[in-house]
Amino acid sequence: MIRVDEKGFYGKFGGAYIPEMLHPNIEELRENYESIMASPDFQQEFQMLLKDYVGRPTPLYYASRLSERHGAKIYLKREDLCHTGAHKVNNTIGQILLAKRLGKKRIIAETGAGQHGVATATVCALMGMECTVYMGELDIHRQRPNVERMKILGAKVVPATSGSKTLKDATNEAMRAWINNPVDTHYIIGSVVGPHPYPEMVALFQSVISEEIKWQLQEKEGRENPDAVIACVGGGSNAAGAFYHYYDVPEVRLIAAEAGGLGVHSGKSAATTALGTPGILHGSKTILMQTEDGQVIEPHSISAGLDYPGIGPVHAHLFDIGRGEFLAVEDEDAMKAGIELSRLEGIIPAIESAHALHALNMIEFKKDDIIVVNLSGRGDKDLETYIKWGGY
Ligand SMILES: *Cc1c(COP(=O)(O)O)cnc(C)c1O
Repeated sequence: MIRVDEKGFYGKFGGAYIPEMLHPNIEELRENYESIMASPDFQQEFQMLLKDYVGRPTPLYYASRLSERHGAKIYLKREDLCHTGAHKVNNTIGQILLAKRLGKKRIIAETGAGQHGVATATVCALMGMECTVYMGELDIHRQRPNVERMKILGAKVVPATSGSKTLKDATNEAMRAWINNPVDTHYIIGSVVGPHPYPEMVALFQSVISEEIKWQLQEKEGRENPDAVIACVGGGSNAAGAFYHYYDVPEVRLIAAEAGGLGVHSGKSAATTALGTPGILHGSKTILMQTEDGQVIEPHSISAGLDYPGIGPVHAHLFDIGRGEFLAVEDEDAMKAGIELSRLEGIIPAIESAHALHALNMIEFKKDDIIVVNLSGRGDKDLETYIKWGGY
């Protein structure tokens, strides 16, 4: 069984490696998240918002021209059709409902490219809660539209000015803010990373993806299980959601596409399982890209959402026991796969999701295999990058 254990571990990975001063915050969450999430009152509000606000269930779309091109039956799970354009809102909706029930008044979050910041600012507006998003100063300059989106939604964006002025520094700032306001503040983490119980909690909120795939595939194909599920992995939340109900079904291949950047050995990639070693990152034991003396190596990917030096502990475990197949997809190949989907199906994907699409060229499958690709987001936010790349 692939589930988190009592201490917050998936096999060798996970746990809660946190400063003493964060202990009460994490304990409060750990003691309460399961019972709150299981309560009828929570479930009713969560399900209502997933349906009427997010727009779930998202379609499971049979991509006939893409299928013909690749010689398999390919279905796309359309998370790009969620409100705000990606799967991230499934998690932020869940966490804000949890925060309300814990009596919290303020929300804080970290963001890299700004996608998680926007998803958090969105649900804070929805619930009338104060929202502060920490973002590296460099990222604030690079991701102007998302910064303005957050401000339009009423969030305060606070620059992190230390270190490399990017995501890891924003995470440090958010942690510091949480230590200073433990009683009235909830910290919404955006992926299946961080100290226990975050990775499992976020995976549970995202597990609606595979829950829907099961009944949708049953309706369309008369079977719940595809031959393979493919998803891209930054921290790993859309992949965890798409894999969740298939973890313990060995006949379903779980295929994770990481960012190979300019090439795994180019010094410019985010191919964590290919290059990483076990260590502690953002409060959990996982696999991360680090130097021999434990300094985190700056990752690179053309897609901001995959530009992360680690993976969530559940993915480290799937990799470790061989349950997941991890592939490194390079920038150029992902961009081409994004254009291929645009031309064949009229869907411009997020560049993150385009990494999962290129995996179709890297795996072997039989003629009528059923393959589900999790289309984590839409490409509107990536227009600049598509234009700069120009190869269409
Ligand atoms: C943030 C993001 C990702 C990467 O995050 P995961 O936690 O790995 O899912 C992937 N796709 C899109 C569209 C994103 O916005």
